[in-house]
Formats: sequence, C-alpha cells, structure tokens
Amino acid sequence: MRVAVVGAGIVGASIARELSRYELEVHLVEREADVGWGVSKANTGLIHAGYDDDPDRFPVRARLCVRGNRIWHEWVDELDIPHAWSGALVVAKEESEVKRLEGLLRRGERNGVPELRILEREEALSMEPDLRRVEAALYAPTVGQISPPQAVIALVENAVDNGVKVHLETEVRGVEVSGERVRGLRTSEGFIEADVVINAAGLHADDVSRMAGIEYFEIRPRKGEYLIFDEDAGPKPSRVLFPTPSEKSKGVVVTTEVQGHLMVGPNAQDLPKEEKEDRSTTPEGLREVYEKASEIWPLPPLSRVIRTFSGLRPEPAGGDFVIRAEDVWGFVNVAGMRSPGLTAAPAVAKEVVRILGEMGTELREKPRWRARRKGIPRAGGRVICRCNLVREPQIREAIGRMRRVGVKTPSVDSVKFRTSATAGTCQGSFCRVEVAKILAEEFDVPLWEVTLKGRGSELGVGDVKVLLRR
Ligand SMILES: Cc1cc2nc3c(=O)[nH]c(=O)nc-3n(C[C@H](O)[C@H](O)[C@H](O)COP(=O)(O)OP(=O)(O)OC[C@H]3O[C@@H](n4cnc5c(N)ncnc54)[C@H](O)[C@@H]3O)c2cc1C
Repeated sequence: MRVAVVGAGIVGASIARELSRYELEVHLVEREADVGWGVSKANTGLIHAGYDDDPDRFPVRARLCVRGNRIWHEWVDELDIPHAWSGALVVAKEESEVKRLEGLLRRGERNGVPELRILEREEALSMEPDLRRVEAALYAPTVGQISPPQAVIALVENAVDNGVKVHLETEVRGVEVSGERVRGLRTSEGFIEADVVINAAGLHADDVSRMAGIEYFEIRPRKGEYLIFDEDAGPKPSRVLFPTPSEKSKGVVVTTEVQGHLMVGPNAQDLPKEEKEDRSTTPEGLREVYEKASEIWPLPPLSRVIRTFSGLRPEPAGGDFVIRAEDVWGFVNVAGMRSPGLTAAPAVAKEVVRILGEMGTELREKPRWRARRKGIPRAGGRVICRCNLVREPQIREAIGRMRRVGVKTPSVDSVKFRTSATAGTCQGSFCRVEVAKILAEEFDVPLWEVTLKGRGSELGVGDVKVLLRR
C-alpha cells in the first residue's frame, strides 16, 4: 500500500513517523525547501494541558489535546527533542476573573486533565514572585514547551530512518481521482502514485482538499505576533503564564522559551482568507503584545528585544479539527489544525492510523522499527556561533542530516533550526557568513548561491563583497 502525506509540518511529520511503524510505502510531500517551515515554524511551542477546549463545541480538539500531551511526554525522550515540563499558571488579575478559572478547572477535569488546581494569591506569588497582579491562578503542572521546528526535524529524521521517502520542494498541484478512488498526486516534480492521500497541508489544507473535489470547509489565517528578548533580559518566569482566556484566544503568554529567552505573544488578528502568506509584524500589533503581557509581568524595555516574528493559525470555519476519511476512497483530511495542533499532533497521528485501519488498510508492524533518534551532540572544534556556542562539527553534522532527509537547497535557516547557530543575541550578524561558507563547501556551490530560507532568498543578492570578506 502506498500512502502520500501532503505537508511536512508537525502534523504531517507525526503521521509519517507513526505510519513508518508499518509495512507501507510512505511518501512525505512538502513544497518548501525543508521540513517544518509552515505554521509549525512560528508559534508558542506549548504542549497544552487540555482545559481550554470546550468538549461540547470542539470535541475532537478537547480529546486529542489531552491525549497528545500525554504522548509528547514519551516522544520528547524517544526522539531527543529539547523540552521543558515547566507547568503553567493561568492568572486571574482581579476578582471578576476568578470565576472563569473555576470554569476552566471544571472543563479541564471533564477533559481528563490531571493535577489541575486553583491557587490562592499567596501560593501563586510563592511560585512566581514577580507576578504584577494576581488574585488567584489555575495551576496546570502538565503544560510543557518544545522547540517546534526541532520536533518536526526529529520526527522526520526518525521517519526516514524507518523508510519514509521525503520529497522537498515538491508542490502538490492536483489529486488524481478516478472511479471515486485516489490514484496519486500531481506535483511540480511529477506524479506520485498513491492509494491513500493524507492531507496535512496546514493553511492550505482547504486548497488541497478542493483538488480532490471536497470543498465543505475553509481555512482562514489568524495572525499572532511575538517579541523575544535578549538572553540576560528579565525577570523570566519559571512557568508558562497565561492571562485568563477570552472566547477567541488563550491570550498573550509570558514564558521563558526552551532556549532560555523571555518570550511574549501572541495576539490574535483575523486576516482575509487570501492572506495566507502574510508573516509581517506591525508596530501596533507588537505594542499590543507588549502592553497585554505587561498587565501580568514586569517586562524589560523594548530596546532589549532581539527578534520579532509572527505566525498564522489555520482557523477552520467550524472551529474544530477536521480529521476524517472522505467519500473519495483513500482521501483523508487532517485539516483546521489551529491551536492546540502542536500538542495534539501525536494523538492525531494515532487517530489517522485508526482511520486507515477502519478503511481496511493492512497494518503489519515492521519487525525492526526504530523508535529512537538522537539529537546533534555538542562537540569540540572552532566556534562558529559565539552567542549560542555552536561549533563547526555541529554545523557539518546538521548539514549531513539535512541531506539525509532530502534537503536540496543550502539554507542558513536549515542550519539554524538544527543547531541554533545565528539565533542568539546578534541574530547572525557575526556568524551567518561563516555558516554560509560551510554550507557552500558541503553542498559544493558558490557562496552566493547559499540561501537564507530557500530559493529566492540567495545571500548573493545584494552586497556580495561582504560575503567574500575573509
Ligand atoms: C501564533 C500561533 C501560536 C500557536 N501556539 C501553539 C501552542 O502553543 N501549542 C499548540 O499546541 N499549538 C499552537 N499553535 C498551533 C500549531 O502551531 C499548529 O496547529 C501546527 O503547527 C499545525 O501544523 P501543521 O503540520 O498542520 O501545519 P504546517 O506546519 O503549516 O504544515 C503544513 C505544510 O504543508 C505544506 N504545504 C501546503 N500546501 C502544500 C502543497 N500544495 N504541496 C506541498 N506542501 C504543501 C506547507 O508548506 C507546510 O509545511 C499555534 C499556532 C500559531 C499560528
């Protein structure tokens, strides 16, 4: 049986890795130059506990978030993914918000979230003494954080070790259907035969579904913006801090992300459905994030911000995840993966396996499936990234791993997501050229053909002399 998964984000990567357990021919098809460059690249990176989702209105989200959280506890160890099980506080700033915490607690208990409890002001302050305003807080110890791009990379490396074939820079342009059955994918790189197509195309899942003639849902982008502060800027909370949430969003989070930087965001701005590529940040949006976060936490001045970015949530019109085998035999939609899609991804992958079983797919386990994968070890050698102390052997190892998962275009971002080189205080001012030189050597291309993030972002466009300076 041949299965093609469209989209190498956290959802597609989890599905491919889960399918790699079985005697199937699995293809993971991605239009970008590397894996994890869609929605999964830019988000808060939280493994939510599962109290946010109303089980009456969004039953699939509610069920899969709690289950996904549990599975991530195993997967981060199996796959050596950087993580922190820090726990979270949902902060009620004033008396009027305390009742909402009780609602969240009841909902969490209904969804099966373990160990939730409400803390009085003093206990909350003993956990987070720098909290600015707190009347009470909901404590959720099972909340964690991961680096989402690194999680995608780890899943894909492991999937490839277990036989999955990755097709990068391969855009799906059509789904071949005949006799009410899927036959394969028409792509920018030719035809990929498949008996089953799993659509995990993130913001474009509605477009890919339409290619199979299935049009009952629509995905709209909802933007969220972030600020990241310098490593020594604080205070930094020990736990993830949420405000009391609204109907629309979980609110602006204050957290110390896995690399150790204070991070605040996201806000929530609905964009027209055509604007699925708009990753810009705006001064107004960033100010809104700063002001909202300041309501609960004393932030360093804006001059200590080293990076801003935004992400787009793929919001399904109906609000809930769309995970189902469609009437066209072999076409499975895994769409509308808005938050908590990162948390839910492992549970979504297991759900997809269950659906394939129900469709009658023979799922024979491989005798020698490899569950484990190791991250890139730290090693001695020339320091390339001074901010994050990344050395040359790590960069070369990262490039070797890029090639093993099928990366064809040398990109600084591919190295950044694998090693954190260029992601420190100087944001690559000192080391980007050094990373580019190693990429050029390993890919055997001229330096100016190295890209920042795939074709069209060649470093050689602009000041080539700077690149050639030794
Ligand atoms: C601001 C923000 C904050 C969030 N915070 C959290 C959080 O803290 N915790 C949490 O659990 N969730 C969070 N989420 C949600 C989470 O990020 C998403 O649910 C998850 O990343 C979606 O993953 P995906 O694999 O479905 O999509 P993607 O990562 O976008 O993957 C889809 C892939 O499909 C590819 N693709 C699209 N069309 C085609 C085509 N035609 N041919 C080939 N490839 C194609 C894309 O290039 C992309 O790589 C947040 C989201 C945002 C935006």
